[in-house]
Amino acid sequence: MPRKLTREDAARLFEMLSRIDPAPTTELSYRDPYTLVVAVALSAQATDVGVNKATAKLFPVADTPKKMIALGEQKLGEHIKTIGLWRNKAKNVIALSQMLIDEYNGQVPQDRDSLEKLPGVGRKTANVVMNVAFGQPTIAVDTHIFRVSNRTGLAPGKTPLIVELGLEKIIPSEYLQHAHHWLILHGRYVCKARTPECWRCEISDICQFRDKSAAPGAKQPAVKMAGRSRLRSGENRGVKGKTAARAD
Ligand code: SF4
Repeated sequence: MPRKLTREDAARLFEMLSRIDPAPTTELSYRDPYTLVVAVALSAQATDVGVNKATAKLFPVADTPKKMIALGEQKLGEHIKTIGLWRNKAKNVIALSQMLIDEYNGQVPQDRDSLEKLPGVGRKTANVVMNVAFGQPTIAVDTHIFRVSNRTGLAPGKTPLIVELGLEKIIPSEYLQHAHHWLILHGRYVCKARTPECWRCEISDICQFRDKSAAPGAKQPAVKMAGRSRLRSGENRGVKGKTAARAD
């Protein structure tokens, strides 16, 4: 487990990320709170690019709860069948559209409790909608944020909720609004799941990840080489058949 970052470290980390991209935003295409709810509900275990491809044709015909109900589950399914778990997602989008009409006058509610009552909307989706559509400083811990928070030592934790609460505690208030997107984009493009690109990472000097990667073709960092030398010299002979635990 890496050393947990201090509040000063966290402030420096977000200062760096904010300099790279001062106004980050979601990569999902949407028009308003309703289409954002639909896009986020469709994005579970799917890529933003894949969801955007489907919604580029879906939203021109159904961008309100009423139009979605009129479209119906079967036709909605045809629009989204390139997306994983599409059958279940089609059911949920129709059910949540109906609930919005029945209970919220066709509007998307702004509070967590109401959002989480919508079919197919969990804590993560509610956090995204509250942040992106309504400007609330929430953090939706997805796979990228979970990984970056654990690797760097920013907010280590075994569950998304522990990481979310840890992030809320350590992130300086002035960075909370955009923290969500900075961490997602950093995880998606630099601190990648299989091989983090530490050699070009702007927050490498703050990050506590122990197994930082070197640029392709370059020698591994000294720490890693030292570890390998010890193994070669038989210092760790007592540990048979084990490799260093990975963070992902
Ligand atoms: S140094 Fe490596 S592990 Fe740490 S945040 Fe950057 S890419 Fe991720």
